[in-house]
Amino acid sequence: MSAAITAISEPPVAVSTSTVRWQSPSSRLQAGVPLPLLEMLLDEIPQGLLVVDAQGMVTHANLAMSALFPQQSVRQYCFLAEQPGMEAVAGLIVDALELQQRVKSEVRVGFKAGGNVVEERHYQATVAPMDALNGGGAWVMVEDVTDHALTEQIRKDFVTNASHELRTPLSLIHGYIETLKSGMIKSAGSLNRCLDVMEKHSKRMMRIIEDMLTISRLESGDAQLRTETFLVRGCVEDVLEHLTALIEARQPQITLHFPDRGGMLNGDRFYWDQIFTNLIENALKENPQPGLHLTISGEWTETECMLTVADNGVGIPAEDVPFVFKRFFRCAKHHSQDIKGTGLGLSIVKRAVEAHGATIELHSEVGLRTEFIMRVPL
Ligand code: ADP
Repeated sequence: MSAAITAISEPPVAVSTSTVRWQSPSSRLQAGVPLPLLEMLLDEIPQGLLVVDAQGMVTHANLAMSALFPQQSVRQYCFLAEQPGMEAVAGLIVDALELQQRVKSEVRVGFKAGGNVVEERHYQATVAPMDALNGGGAWVMVEDVTDHALTEQIRKDFVTNASHELRTPLSLIHGYIETLKSGMIKSAGSLNRCLDVMEKHSKRMMRIIEDMLTISRLESGDAQLRTETFLVRGCVEDVLEHLTALIEARQPQITLHFPDRGGMLNGDRFYWDQIFTNLIENALKENPQPGLHLTISGEWTETECMLTVADNGVGIPAEDVPFVFKRFFRCAKHHSQDIKGTGLGLSIVKRAVEAHGATIELHSEVGLRTEFIMRVPL
């Protein structure tokens, strides 16, 4: 059986031939079920179904087959192997015919636009050879399992990353406990240094666990929003006060642009505190170089409030932008290894923003600027 196969396909250039329909079922089928009913039933099933003859030429396909491969329709009386995106399925047919048995495998198809893969979808394909009575060849059933595959990948990544992030501080604490038990530490000064390090790492573990619980509450929909009307400028000012130590270390220029009366928002103040804390803390933390300028602004229209947190710092590389809101993701390039973080901050921001029915966009240019824009419907 073939392992997962990747086929990267360009969208077809103007295809004139029509999508294949069931046209000539065998007389055995005709005897049992009326042809129009059979055709209608096959078009109703969500799985894509197609038949190829012994030479690999497509003779039949149901409606779902085209819906499953949105950028290309399956062409009748053409070899399947020559149709864009179908190479992997065609490979399974070869396997099934050679082995003369049913073959099942996951197939990944990359859809391209402008030369770049813009979407990758996962399919579960089952291929079975047909006997000579039915003209030889094979039938293929294809199911889109992309959502399931992505969920499974996120689950695996989460377990791996969470274990890794917790194991590091835990093993450091464990090491210090061993040292303390051995009685090697004699002076009060060394003892205090040991306890300080243990406290620092246990705080880090607590923060990771609290962040993970917040994410899980927001994801499961259990996060009951305690909405109230509050002044956004006031919320930002409180956050800046909590971050005094970091602000003193970075010495940034900070500009706040808000309507005269501060701008009101109806939302859960606890989560908005966290949103602004994570965004402003990131802007300060990631940019130790002098000359940092931080702008936090709010603009209100009849229908929405647009909140922006922007800085003129190192920026986020374009290839990292799609991933920064994922749990545990941290940019490696252009960022100092000394900057600590869990990679959970922006995950919380995105989920908390979305829990308010709002959206968040990220615009960044390396070495120039990073800008997070949140649009909250009013
Ligand atoms: P972390 O705990 O590492 O800060 P986040 O989820 O908050 O995790 O952020 C993910 C990554 O995005 C950070 O590790 C950092 O590399 C990058 N990042 C976030 N905000 C900024 C910013 N304002 N400037 C540059 N990089 C940023």
